[in-house]
Amino acid sequence: MLRGRFAPTPSGPLHFGSLVAALASYLAARSQGGEWLLRIEDVDPPRVMPGVSAAILRTLAAHGFEWDGEVLYQSRRGEAYASAVARLAAAGRVYACNCSRKGITDLARAGVDGLVYPGTCRGREGPGALRFLVDAPRVVFHDALLGRVACDVQAECGDFVLQRADGVYSYQLAVVVDDALQGITQVVRGADLLTSTPRQIVLQRALAYPTPAYTHLPLALDARGLKLGKQTLAAPLQDANPLPALRLAGRFLGLPQIGAVAGASHWLAAAIRLWPEAATPPLRGSKVA
Ligand code: GLU
Repeated sequence: MLRGRFAPTPSGPLHFGSLVAALASYLAARSQGGEWLLRIEDVDPPRVMPGVSAAILRTLAAHGFEWDGEVLYQSRRGEAYASAVARLAAAGRVYACNCSRKGITDLARAGVDGLVYPGTCRGREGPGALRFLVDAPRVVFHDALLGRVACDVQAECGDFVLQRADGVYSYQLAVVVDDALQGITQVVRGADLLTSTPRQIVLQRALAYPTPAYTHLPLALDARGLKLGKQTLAAPLQDANPLPALRLAGRFLGLPQIGAVAGASHWLAAAIRLWPEAATPPLRGSKVA
């Protein structure tokens, strides 16, 4: 069974960039008769904005999306993450790091996504952040849009955090455990997560999970060429008026124009039929505003 997902972090309301990821993952799954699951990535309490998870569900429903099964909330998944960490620890792939932020800044060099931790605490036990010991460094995967992607995870990312010293599990761990638990076969998401994918693949291998197929979408940029995200204060989607945003997202993804429709779910039904014809989106992001 082909199964896709949308996995927003409830740090702010959905905006146009989120809609592009939701729409592309939805169309890619539904156009092939697959399922589409919804996961709220509220694993990191300080990033969660009160009321936003419920607002995300309302916004998706207002835009015509229908998800399969129950919504999965990462905040309720501590046991599953703990047991994955325990399995990795039993395999000798976890150590406790007590380097201070300043210590890491002094020791580490820049990588593809932040600093590369040099492994100073390898072999250490006891309190601290739990890090994953990366020992199979080279990852090569095929992205449906970008083609072959190669990464030396040890050199470009280093040993990364599974659980912070305050107990919060990392995005990398949570996403890998949940994609496996939910039986996700196809991940379609923004290119801002491309540098995370090799780390997720090394974790999948260490946990003997299958690796889904990946598509990383070009990022939607604002008129100044900045990524549309919560940081750039992209306008929240309007639940009362979903069609203009859906049409714009469709255009961004290369869908042919869809004529007058009675509402968002009709537009989506037409988009599902047209998706196989959609042009390949530009790879470096498109200006939409
Ligand atoms: N929660 C992540 C975000 O909102 C997406 C995670 C994913 O698709 O893997 O950016």
